[in-house]
Amino acid sequence: MDLDTTLTFLAYLVAAALFIVGIRRLRNPETARSGNTIAAFGMVIALAATLFVIEFQSLLLIGIAVALGGFLGALSAERVQMTAMPQMVAAYNGVGGGAAALIALSEFYHFQAEGGSSLVADITVPLTVLIGSVSFMGSVVAFLKLQEVAFTGSVTFPLQQVVNALLFLGILTLGANAFTGGAIVPFLSPVASVVSVLALSGLLGVLLVIPIGGADMPIVISLLNAGTGLAAAASGFVLDNYILIIAGTIVGASGTILTRLMSGALGRPLGKIIFAGIAASGAQKKGGSGEEKPVNSVSAEAVGEYLADEASTVVVVPGYGLAVAQAQQVMRDLTDTLESQGKRVLFGIHPVAGRMPGHMNVLLTEVGVAYDKLYDLEDINPEFPETDAVIVVGANDVVNPAANDPEQDTPISGMPVLDVESAKRVIFVKRSLSPGFAGVDNPLFYNTEKTMMLFADAKQGLQDILAAIRS
Ligand code: NDP
Repeated sequence: MDLDTTLTFLAYLVAAALFIVGIRRLRNPETARSGNTIAAFGMVIALAATLFVIEFQSLLLIGIAVALGGFLGALSAERVQMTAMPQMVAAYNGVGGGAAALIALSEFYHFQAEGGSSLVADITVPLTVLIGSVSFMGSVVAFLKLQEVAFTGSVTFPLQQVVNALLFLGILTLGANAFTGGAIVPFLSPVASVVSVLALSGLLGVLLVIPIGGADMPIVISLLNAGTGLAAAASGFVLDNYILIIAGTIVGASGTILTRLMSGALGRPLGKIIFAGIAASGAQKKGGSGEEKPVNSVSAEAVGEYLADEASTVVVVPGYGLAVAQAQQVMRDLTDTLESQGKRVLFGIHPVAGRMPGHMNVLLTEVGVAYDKLYDLEDINPEFPETDAVIVVGANDVVNPAANDPEQDTPISGMPVLDVESAKRVIFVKRSLSPGFAGVDNPLFYNTEKTMMLFADAKQGLQDILAAIRS
């Protein structure tokens, strides 16, 4: 082994250690930012070290790709709204999986033309192409769903699972054909077989994700993320590149752990999400049930009066609308004011509130809300019976008791929700009776005894409540 290769291996080792230290620091919001920087620094070391073992003439092409990718990445990260983060994660995810699949295909082509393949590479090429292509097309569909451009809700057709199973069998046969040098389907060359694996796997990715919707979207994004990591790790075997194997395995393993944690927290078995999707019949149309039902529409002054005079314990439940309205600072001001009046204020954070895991924690800690005031679902639910007022700001699905109604089959059925109904009063701050992401009407809106509906933009509504309390 020459000096350059030895130094590159050592640099990979340092990079891998930095990835692990970085991920460990992500466990706590206080150390997360530095964890991210440490992992990014590891990636810079890995990239720089790789350049030393690359032929000189490839450097120009790589330089162009790095400059272009870096520019587009920085531009999109700079411009993206916090509420569009899942789409961005899906897009980045997808291109990672797609790149792994194409690299494996191109290496396979070279192996076939010039030799130099190995048993490991022959097995991992079809595997990389399969996982990478499923992740790519699955992420494209997830992106379109989250952006509400296409495939919104649950898209199903008869015999969908049978079609998926046949497709998977076909992919396995073609992969085996490539591996055996065309012994199974003689009229298809190994390269043509791998190209077919690429195409059919892409189709499988589409078919696997179109029936998924509602509360299952965060889980599927994390699952696709894990898939991309595994594809990158498998491509590391094809290219004989250790850092790809290490980084891909870390992404695959952490994505799998996150997927399992989320599906556990939401009470939605992974097998059911992947193989069953959601019954399309369950989803109601956006815009409420269509029925005219009375609601207790109130003014900001009435809310301010109730909070000032009658509530001594308050729980705030933030949701997607808070993020859209960028109302986190005014919410902090409101809670500070309530606390200065001697009230106890807590925050109830649902695991899928907003549009990305940890969305609400990020927004709230951004404006300096203390971590010990942020309560998870299982910790806040026992507090509600002792709570005088729950202020639900721009949230619906995460507080919708319809999820627990055995009579209804909806995209959120079975998802544990924040049990705000058991508090004395529930105050919704939102613009209309529109349901949330999953499109399921909320019976709490119509509980005129308990619920106050303040129809307003979250930021404006909270500002008005604050002004009413201060005056
Ligand atoms: P929801 O999507 O259920 O509800 C959001 C509510 O915000 C809507 O009812 C809307 O009502 C209101 N809203 C929108 N804009 C404003 C505004 N400017 N001011 C005030 N209100 C506003 O949000 P939740 O947080 O309750 O639930 C999250 C949903 O997103 C879940 O179904 C989850 O599965 C899904 N999801 C979550 C992801 C994650 O990782 N966290 C990722 C992908 C999906 P109105 O129009 O009347 O104002």
